[in-house]
Amino acid sequence: MEFECPVCGAVFDIEDVEEGDEVRCPECGALLVVMKKGKKLYLEPVPEEEEEEWEEEEEEWEEEEEWEEEEEF
Ligand SMILES: [Zn+2]
Repeated sequence: MEFECPVCGAVFDIEDVEEGDEVRCPECGALLVVMKKGKKLYLEPVPEEEEEEWEEEEEEWEEEEEWEEEEEF
């Protein structure tokens, strides 16, 4: 399926994308999200701020470290 980059206007082909998928323009490298209008898919630029939201990992991973102590007598 052909998409046009809304940032630089380059037309490129992407296979197997669905609404909500994020792709990068091969020309300008802009991060784009696949939007759907009717049956037509198109690309919209993703604001830099929302590019990647790294939330602080609050989950504490239970690290079970099993130390195999080899004690030689
Ligand atoms: Zn582009």
